Amino acid sequence: MSTVNGGISFWYAQEGAPAPREPLPGDATADVCIVGGGYTGLWTAYYLKKAVPFLNITVLEAKFCGYGASGRNGGWLYNGIAGRDRYAELHGHEAAVRLQQAMNATVTEVLDVCETEKIDADQHRGGVLEVALSPAQLARLKAFHAAELAFGETDREFHGARETADRIRVAGAVGSSWTPHGARLHPVKLVKGLADAVEALGVTIHESTPVTEIKPKHAITPYGTVRAPYVLRCTEGFTASLAGQRRTWLPMNSSMIATEPLTDAQWESIGWDGRETLGDMAHAYMYAQRTADGRIALGGRGVPYRFGSKTDNDGRTQPQTIDALREILVRFFPQLAGVRIDHAWSGVLGVPRDWCATVTLDRSTGLGWAGGYVGSGVATANLAARTLRDLIQQDSGQSGPTDLTALPWVNHKVRKWEPEPLRWLGVQTMYAAFRGADRREATAHSAETDRVAVLANRLSGR
Ligand SMILES: Cc1cc2nc3c(=O)[nH]c(=O)nc-3n(C[C@H](O)[C@H](O)[C@H](O)COP(=O)(O)OP(=O)(O)OC[C@H]3O[C@@H](n4cnc5c(N)ncnc54)[C@H](O)[C@@H]3O)c2cc1C
Repeated sequence: MSTVNGGISFWYAQEGAPAPREPLPGDATADVCIVGGGYTGLWTAYYLKKAVPFLNITVLEAKFCGYGASGRNGGWLYNGIAGRDRYAELHGHEAAVRLQQAMNATVTEVLDVCETEKIDADQHRGGVLEVALSPAQLARLKAFHAAELAFGETDREFHGARETADRIRVAGAVGSSWTPHGARLHPVKLVKGLADAVEALGVTIHESTPVTEIKPKHAITPYGTVRAPYVLRCTEGFTASLAGQRRTWLPMNSSMIATEPLTDAQWESIGWDGRETLGDMAHAYMYAQRTADGRIALGGRGVPYRFGSKTDNDGRTQPQTIDALREILVRFFPQLAGVRIDHAWSGVLGVPRDWCATVTLDRSTGLGWAGGYVGSGVATANLAARTLRDLIQQDSGQSGPTDLTALPWVNHKVRKWEPEPLRWLGVQTMYAAFRGADRREATAHSAETDRVAVLANRLSGR
């Protein structure tokens, strides 16, 4: 059997395409109109409807709920949030600690709602294990570990090479950092379950309904306009396709492969009994999970960005990206050299110019948005949604400020990306620098981070 490339994602190959919902039939009104049916839009609908059951909420989705990153991701539900360190610089350490604590609690919140709503998403709370494979990666891992402790993660553990191998036998791993604030899940089972739960609460979802433009109190589609006091943009990596948003968030690609189910003997040789999500400290990092049906799903950057902020075609990735991900798999687990790759796919995530996730409600226009999560939106989207709920309740006079509305990522402003061809050149150069740095660090005996990578990080604002 050859590798399936695209078809949205492996997760959909397993689950099947969802039953389509009706498009918007014509002009309509709502109290809140949400554009985008991924985790951000659906969680926002969920929490708003739970808080104020009589609210008339409409979700407009261009394709079907979970078509985007929410139906394609690596299934790391974890406490990382893009921009925390920058928020510490801007708002002080304590504010960033509060943000981190909110993220830690978010992992538990998502798992709790799954239980309440009976969403079986293969969730397994095994934590997150990040491994180092070279002296330079080890030095960065130690610095990362110390930083996480400083942001209040006192339950994080550092492991040497032997303890790391007791958890997962990654070839050449010299150390690891483990946090309990993470769980493995099946992304599509989560997004499907969430869409069903939201609909059962009485939220209207229209699919196959692309919004072409968002204006204050208006979401405009080819089939009609939804008028609402609050219009929320939850389109993450696809944001550039909306009128006026071309340079707001850069659609960065991430690609994945899923192996065939491994044999008991193969699992015996690897370990990984704790089902931790697994990552490394490379500049162009990898991420992986042990799936509920005994495969390895592994992702990485591949070709990072398409000229003109274009997105992929239903998840197809480049053949050279499949080869590169297979190489990582075999470098980590040499005994899997002959293993079949059943599926490969890609998706886009939203990257703001300063690489900081944000959640915003503009009280003068009623326009709101959340995203720019870079590679960590599975949990962050839930925190963003609860924050949007609180911001709307505050704005409409139903409640005052809350702990969530006081978090430092709320209403953060960032400049736009450069026009083309600078945007394309910048991203290609940055990732070429990262790949070169990773290659040099893999063979060097130095604990120093490669200087080219340091420079690339500084220039890109990462
Ligand atoms: C391959 C990959 C792996 C990842 N792995 C992880 C991971 O393991 N852990 C993690 O934390 N994060 C991961 N991420 C990121 C994470 O998946 C995203 O941050 C998260 O799913 C974002 O959710 P969202 O709802 O904001 O965006 P999306 O899921 O992208 O949803 C946006 C929705 O808006 C719709 N839409 C777009 N334009 C319009 C329009 N004009 N009108 C109407 N609807 C529109 C789209 O069809 C889509 O359904 C990964 C991302 C990718 C691509």
